[in-house]
Amino acid sequence: MDRIVLVGVFVGLVAIIGGCAAEQTTEEGEKLMYVETDSGPWLVHDINRPAPPVVAPGSASTEAPSDAIVLFDGTETYLSKWTAGNERPAKWVVRDGYMEAVKGSGPVKTKQQFGSCQLHVEFATPARVTGSGQGRGNSGVFLQGIYEVQVLDSYKNKTYPDGQCAALYGRAVPLVNACGKPDEWQSYDIIYHRPIFEGTKVVRKATFTVLHNGVLVHDHVELEGGTGWQGPHVISAYEPHGDKGPIMLQDHGNPVRYRNIWIRKLKD
Ligand code: MG
Repeated sequence: MDRIVLVGVFVGLVAIIGGCAAEQTTEEGEKLMYVETDSGPWLVHDINRPAPPVVAPGSASTEAPSDAIVLFDGTETYLSKWTAGNERPAKWVVRDGYMEAVKGSGPVKTKQQFGSCQLHVEFATPARVTGSGQGRGNSGVFLQGIYEVQVLDSYKNKTYPDGQCAALYGRAVPLVNACGKPDEWQSYDIIYHRPIFEGTKVVRKATFTVLHNGVLVHDHVELEGGTGWQGPHVISAYEPHGDKGPIMLQDHGNPVRYRNIWIRKLKD
């Protein structure tokens, strides 16, 4: 600190609450800028600032990175990390490296609970195209078991846009329709930040950033409320809940397939 003598008391000090940057000027007139971080204040371009941990990426976008929690990779013949709820075994079919929704069996939920996270999911809607609108290849990926990123066969299949494939169901229409064809493997990469409640009030809404088949379809979208079906033109409101919940995959009566599901926990 010998070299760094403040000119006056914090001359040139700029404090931005929240982002917290500070500026100092040395006796020699050199300007120094600091940023507040979790590990304390650091100079801009400081070589000693802790570097982020090294993570070996998968060799392809479909492979889990080394720090991910693998929820399903098709190497098991049953769903060891999943349940039908209330500790009942998940009843979806597992074969050839994928799991498939079984009509009437209900959703499957991870045993482990998660809050804010990065989630990778691959899915395929049925090769045999039947039904239309919401009846074609319907399933869904639910964060905390509550907030649905819609899965639907939206390849040449008209439905209400806030319920098409990759919609935040009933709340947000995807920026583009990046849907693959039936039977093709598709992917979601979801960055989710959970909502925060104080009592019955939501004090921070949930946010979603979603890539569908590598294409950005939701760019840090604030969720205005719940995503639960409440009638033809009604959607559920926020209802207070805990910090964590399961990743849930929906049985909507169509044999939608999933494989290669992994997750990385994020800070709230
Ligand atoms: Mg659905």
